Amino acid sequence: MQVQPESGCLIDPHGRHIRKLRVSLLDACNFRCFYCMPLETSFMPVTQLLTPGEIERICKSLVHLGIERIRVTGGEPTLRKDFEEIMSRLGKLPLDQLGVTSNGLRLKGHLEHLWSIGCHNLNFSLDSLQEERFERITFSKGFRTVLDTILAARSMGFNVKINTLLLKGKNDDEILDFVRFSAQEGIEVRFLELMKIGIASNGQKGLFMSADEAIDIISKRELLIPEEVELDSTSTAFRAESGARIGFIASESRPFCGHCSRLRLTADGQLRSCLMAPGGCSIRRVPEEHLKEVVCQVIAQKPMERNPSTLTRMNQIGG
Ligand code: SAM
Ligand code: SF4
Repeated sequence: MQVQPESGCLIDPHGRHIRKLRVSLLDACNFRCFYCMPLETSFMPVTQLLTPGEIERICKSLVHLGIERIRVTGGEPTLRKDFEEIMSRLGKLPLDQLGVTSNGLRLKGHLEHLWSIGCHNLNFSLDSLQEERFERITFSKGFRTVLDTILAARSMGFNVKINTLLLKGKNDDEILDFVRFSAQEGIEVRFLELMKIGIASNGQKGLFMSADEAIDIISKRELLIPEEVELDSTSTAFRAESGARIGFIASESRPFCGHCSRLRLTADGQLRSCLMAPGGCSIRRVPEEHLKEVVCQVIAQKPMERNPSTLTRMNQIGG
């Protein structure tokens, strides 16, 4: 079925209102989180990456069609030399939210700039509160820098969230430490389930931990009070008695496809309707007058049921 956006509104054939866009700036990263990418790997040639002008043009058109929120990601978005230029361009679009997802190692020097252009939503990935363990998971140094940056962003008034991947036998003994950290620092921590994607597509046997298992661990210590979230939120949210704000992104055990409102733009300009679905449609050279038609074709293919796994890596699509 062909969908037509009406009055700038993207509605897919299942009635889902598509309003969020993930923009990947590149697939390269300065970390090597063991579940995300191998130590030895190659990345897209820089010449293949969308330029700041292309990113601005595509995003502007998509905003015109109905996108309300943009989150910039990668790979590690701060590795782009033109990161600030791209963010400044996106900051001029009429969005209700602009955000960045980052590992935090190189973000501190950009905080003032991000604040000034109206990008106030920062998600940091942090899988351990222990320095040595952080290094073992990410194959990188820089734990203190990441932590300082998270706290500096919180102090500046950014809406900060920490994303922590649940990894059985690797960091599940830190779940309560993260809850305490959330209460102490006033920062929301969201626990993510390991998805069968990229090098984790075989499930990385034994590593998977469900949101329910984590909820059980926390509930033995304190009451978790459910909080309301938007219908298209990927996360369920709770407030703990201690004041901690805890979320769960249960992509595997409770897929949220039925309410998904996301499109993804890869670093080389593929528009994808789903993280798990194969392929996308290159839109970098689509003339303005045909863009609406192509976007409609992409969202018409947005699945309602989740593919169980994909070999394409998270950093290649934009996580
Ligand atoms: N480099 C940035 C970062 O780490 O925040 C942005 C890109 S990274 C791919 C985005 C998120 O994807 C991270 O929070 C990471 O933990 C998550 N991720 C990577 N592989 C995953 C997997 N197999 N299952 C679930 N989340 C995954
Ligand atoms: Fe890099 Fe993010 Fe993947 Fe870790 S999860 S390797 S920080 S892209």
